[in-house]
Amino acid sequence: AAAPAELDASKLTIRRADPAARAVPDEATACSGNETICTDHMITCAWDASRGWAAPELKPYGPLSLMPTASVLHYATECFEGLKAYRGFDGKLRLFRPDLNAKRMLMSTLRISLPGFNPKQVERLISTLVAVDGPKWLPADRPGSFLYLRPAMIGTQPQLGVQAPKEALLFITASFMPRMDSMPGGLKLHTSPEDMVRAWVGGFGYAKVGANYGPSLLATNEARARGFGQILWLYGPEGYCTEAGASNFFVVWRARDADGGKLQLVTAPLDDRLILDGVTRRSIVELARERLAGELEMVERKYTIDELLDADREGRLVEAFAAGTAYFICPVSLVHHRGKDVQIPLGKGDSGQYTAKIKGLMGDIMYGNEQHPWGVVA
Ligand code: PMP
Repeated sequence: AAAPAELDASKLTIRRADPAARAVPDEATACSGNETICTDHMITCAWDASRGWAAPELKPYGPLSLMPTASVLHYATECFEGLKAYRGFDGKLRLFRPDLNAKRMLMSTLRISLPGFNPKQVERLISTLVAVDGPKWLPADRPGSFLYLRPAMIGTQPQLGVQAPKEALLFITASFMPRMDSMPGGLKLHTSPEDMVRAWVGGFGYAKVGANYGPSLLATNEARARGFGQILWLYGPEGYCTEAGASNFFVVWRARDADGGKLQLVTAPLDDRLILDGVTRRSIVELARERLAGELEMVERKYTIDELLDADREGRLVEAFAAGTAYFICPVSLVHHRGKDVQIPLGKGDSGQYTAKIKGLMGDIMYGNEQHPWGVVA
């Protein structure tokens, strides 16, 4: 028998939707309902263990068909990615470091025993969907707008029993998503409940698998009902700060004089594999080292909620923000921990100056104000 086929974007077949069938809603109504509005097309690609990857298909957006016994519905054999396509101020459509999303997807896929692929091929499929639907759904007269791209993979084998699926489906959709990069009054975080943990050493917190998200909703919903936007997930008896909901978390503080007194931008490290290696996080870390070294020191290290409380009490806490594709860079105004509120001043335009500066640097690359290898023209 022939070797199972590799994923090959050049084999893509195209079945076009009737472009007149659906109109593009304006930004305000696009995210107002209870259903994500997707573009005209999606890409799907089926895999099975003996034949390998079938030819990918670009076709009208619509429902998938699955057996009730499909692996994903029982054993959470699912992983996903999230990135955006940006309509630049120079008129071009761009992706931001899509190679990192494709590689991260491969890592997540392998963690849950779904089939591997060459990440370059997934990157190609993503940019093909953007090239087909971008011109209509991100019109040139809306510079500064974006679409959210959601590649995902599921185990589809219709057989009960805990085992690595012998059939899988890769699919990619493009949709509207609300802007979340500034909240009126700033994003308010509540630390995780004492009896809950999002991820653990030896677990899979570093992978973008659906199984990390469903179980986080209980804490998030309780926090939301009390006026908070996201959970700041703590880890271990020390209370290490890890991530804020589906975003990474950054703090700007001044180190104690005894520790050098420097202004620092601090975020949790990747070492223990507790957090997602965010594309936004990684880019901020790299840009801060390259361009902000004169103003602040970039520090990736474990730090605890008590250090945050101390910095606040000692007047050393300067700014905080959440960072991720969905939230982009969103100023945090408050962290609530076991009955104590840490207020973080927002400053001019509801954002601290360093937060605003970093957001400006990143935004310029995404929207083509700066030509940079991270901004990949689709
Ligand atoms: N942490 C978690 C748990 C996430 O789900 C996300 C969103 N993908 C992030 C961080 C931010 O990652 P990125 O910057 O790649 O969107």
